[in-house]
Amino acid sequence: NLFSNYKLSKEILMAIDKMGFEEPSPIQKASIPFILGKRDLIGQAQTGTGKTAAFGIPMIEMISKKPIIQGLVLTPTRELAIQVSEELRKIAAFKRLKILPIYGGQPIGRQIKALKMGIHIIIGTPGRVLDHLRRNTIHFKDIKYLVLDEADEMLDMGFIDDIKEIISKTPNDRQTLLFSATMPREIQKLAKQYLKKPKYIAI
Ligand code: AMP
Repeated sequence: NLFSNYKLSKEILMAIDKMGFEEPSPIQKASIPFILGKRDLIGQAQTGTGKTAAFGIPMIEMISKKPIIQGLVLTPTRELAIQVSEELRKIAAFKRLKILPIYGGQPIGRQIKALKMGIHIIIGTPGRVLDHLRRNTIHFKDIKYLVLDEADEMLDMGFIDDIKEIISKTPNDRQTLLFSATMPREIQKLAKQYLKKPKYIAI
C-alpha cells in the first residue's frame, strides 16, 4: 500500500487498507505531506477527487485521543456534512476518535446531548454551528484544525458572515485548510484573511 510512504500510524494505515485505498489520489499526494508538515493549504479540487481523505487522513493522524473538540469541518449542506462524517469515521475507526455531524433541521436537544459525549471532530453547517456557539453548547478554544470544505458553495449560500464569526471563536494558532472548486475573489480574500502562508494546490 503506497500510503505507507507517509508517516502515518498503524491505526490510520489499517483503516486506509480496510477502505480499499491502495494509492493516494493526486490531491492526496499533493496535500497529505504538507498538512502533516503543519502548513495551511488552499486546495482547488472538485468533489470526487478524494479531497475528504486528503484533509481527513492527516487531520485524524494528528488529533490526540483526548476527548475535546480539536477539529472542525464546515460544509455548505447537511448532505455533505453527513457524507464527510461517514468518510472521517472510517478513517478514524481504529483510532476510535468520535466524529459528530451538526446541521440544521435536526433537533438541537439531541445534538446538545451528543456534544457531551467527548467529541474530537465536528462536521457542521455554519448556521447550526453558530447557533451552538451562541448558546454556549459548543466550545472551540482547543481547535487545532479548521477545514472550510466547498468554500465557494458556502459563499454562494450566504454563509460568509457566519463563517467569519465561527473562525473568530477558534484559536489563532490553528491550522487552516480551504477547499473550493472555484477561486472567486471573495474566496481569495477569505484565504488571505484567515490562512497563514498557505500552499496552493490545484488539481
Ligand atoms: P471525495 O472527493 O472526497 O468525495 O471522494 C470520492 C470517493 O473516492 C469517495 O468514495 C472516497 O472514499 C474515494 N477515495 C478517496 N481517496 C481514494 C483513494 N486513494 N483510493 C480509492 N478511493 C478513494
